[in-house]
Amino acid sequence: MASTTSRTARRTHGFTESVIREMTRVANEHGALNLAQGFPDFPCPDVLKEAACAAIRADINQYAVTWGAPRLRAAIAASYGRWYGMEVDEAREVTVTCGATEAMASALMSIIDPGDEVLVFEPFYENYGPDAILCGAVPVWIPLDTDRPLDLDRLEAAVTPRTRAIVLNTPNNPTGRVFAPEELAGIAALCQKHDLVAFTDEIYEHILYEGTHIPLATIPGMRSRTVTISGASKTFSITGWRIGWIIAPPELTLAIRKVHDFLTVGAPAPLQEGVAAALELLPDDYYAGLATQYRERREALVPALLEAGFRCEPPAGAYYVLADFSGISDGANLDDDAFARWLARGADGRLERGVATVPGSSFFHEPALGRKLVRFAFCKRVETLREAGEQLRRLAR
Ligand code: GLN
Repeated sequence: MASTTSRTARRTHGFTESVIREMTRVANEHGALNLAQGFPDFPCPDVLKEAACAAIRADINQYAVTWGAPRLRAAIAASYGRWYGMEVDEAREVTVTCGATEAMASALMSIIDPGDEVLVFEPFYENYGPDAILCGAVPVWIPLDTDRPLDLDRLEAAVTPRTRAIVLNTPNNPTGRVFAPEELAGIAALCQKHDLVAFTDEIYEHILYEGTHIPLATIPGMRSRTVTISGASKTFSITGWRIGWIIAPPELTLAIRKVHDFLTVGAPAPLQEGVAAALELLPDDYYAGLATQYRERREALVPALLEAGFRCEPPAGAYYVLADFSGISDGANLDDDAFARWLARGADGRLERGVATVPGSSFFHEPALGRKLVRFAFCKRVETLREAGEQLRRLAR
């Protein structure tokens, strides 16, 4: 064991394999309903399939421009104008990446120096931990209660002379929390006061149950210091296509494009054409419909969780529920890992079919903080969610 460790880089020793992806393997092993990894079990809109197939038939098989096919960058810039009134220069401010995952990693590596402190709200999407380690950043975890407004004084107290940036994710994975306009304004003021760069993961921007999404970059004074990350995975239900993007001011984009190029060369060329067509052709109704369908899915799952004995709040956005299982008598003594595996196996025969979730500790730097939590993903057909609900209600019997 020791010799294996010594042959690998120290930067890989500080984190484990993704727990989210591992739970998909556990789900498959037990034939469980997979409410663990956040990927849809329903098809994407036809326009994407047709445009991507047409691109392949037209022999768009070679590298696209490293930082993104011109048509896709133009479509992204136009979309931000239409959705948010945000002016984006596709020539100098857009980088198309292999998903928002690569976007966050490339952006942090381009801007953060080893030893820089980066503020990250907790619970956090598990990638941000390894992302910080890979670029030598020191993550500073900021606890964020779901039921109380952001404590701006506590946030400011975490700022030191080494603080370079803040990472935020709204709508949030795993809590479903959506930052209110006043909270975003507070974060924006803090960034300007302490000269911080904001990395904002907005991949769930169109999955919102009330109100409208406000990109941090649209708050006065923030455009020049915000790295906006999003992508097509969630909006168009194509998590396997790996098409994400970064919008950042030209100076930051120059650095980001270099890192992105040497890591990946670029995102899949024909699939970029598919996403460009979707952004060009789908009407505003599409985005409203997406949110409506997700509301139905949320309604199919959350009441069943409550009836089963979980404690949880309906999320305000994104498609996850972080649920406390300490009220479930048979599982209450287990920790989150054991509980998630027990549930995926079928809860010792109490369920006809297991339900896979993600152990809560993977969203906290201190595993103890998530020991009584599991995350359910509801980016699934209503039938899948109803079936999961039926199974989970058996826990209360
Ligand atoms: N974002 C999704 C989740 O949290 C998928 C993660 C992944 O596997 N890339 O489940």
